[in-house]
Amino acid sequence: MEFREKSAKLVNNLRFQGVGEKVLDAMLRVPRHLFLPPNVRGDAYIDTPLSIGYGQTISAPHMVAIMCDLLDLREGQNVLEVGTGSGYNAAVMAELVGSTGHVYSVERIAPLAEFAKNNLADVGYINVTVMLEDGSGGDLLHSPYDRICVTCAAPDIPQPLIEQLKPGGLMAIPVGVTFQQLYLVKKDMDGTVHEEIKGGVVFVPLIGRYGFSDD
Ligand code: SAM
Repeated sequence: MEFREKSAKLVNNLRFQGVGEKVLDAMLRVPRHLFLPPNVRGDAYIDTPLSIGYGQTISAPHMVAIMCDLLDLREGQNVLEVGTGSGYNAAVMAELVGSTGHVYSVERIAPLAEFAKNNLADVGYINVTVMLEDGSGGDLLHSPYDRICVTCAAPDIPQPLIEQLKPGGLMAIPVGVTFQQLYLVKKDMDGTVHEEIKGGVVFVPLIGRYGFSDD
C-alpha cells in the first residue's frame, strides 16, 4: 500500500477519535515515514511511538494529534517546541501555522537535532528552526510564544516556559514523575495562568535545568 493510502487510513481512525479536521489535514500533508530511521519506516503509519535512537521516540500519531488539537494552532503564530526528536511534530505544527508563522524547536541530543534538521530540510520546511540546547527553560531569544508544545515529561511546569508564553497563549506539557498527565496551560490577556489536566500520558523525560537530572 502506498504511503498516502496508509496515511489516509491512519488519519481516518484519528477522525473517529474526535481529532479536528484542521489537524487531520495537516497530518495528511506530512510524510511521517520520512522522519524515521530506515529500520522502522515500514511502521510509520501504525498509531504507535517508534524508536529514533539515543533512547528516544517519535510520539504516536494520536498523541501528536491530541496536542496539536489542544493547542489550536493558527496561521502566523510563533511556536516553541521543546523536544524536536525526529522533527515530525514540528512539521505538523509548521503546516498549521503556515508560511507566516514559525516553529522554533529545541533538542538536547546533538545527533537528533541534526537528524531532525535534515528530515525537515529534505521535506521542504523552511518555517522551522531547530536549535541544539537545553530547552527546559525555553528559548528566550525568540520569545514570547503564542503556543508552546513540550514533547517530554517535566517534573513540574517550568516557570520560564510560563513567562515566555504570550498573554492569550497556550502550552501543552506532560507533567509527572511516575505517573504523567498532560496539562493544558492557558495565559489570560491579564497574565492570569490556568491549568487543566487532559489525561494520562507516557513520555520520555525532560532532562535539564528545569527538568530531571541526567543520571
Ligand atoms: N517531538 C518529537 C518528534 O516529533 O519526533 C518527539 C520527541 S521525543 C518523545 C522527546 C525529545 O525530547 C527527545 O528527543 C529528547 O532528547 C528531547 N529532550 C529531553 N529533554 C530535553 C531538553 N531539556 N531540551 C530539549 N530537548 C529535550
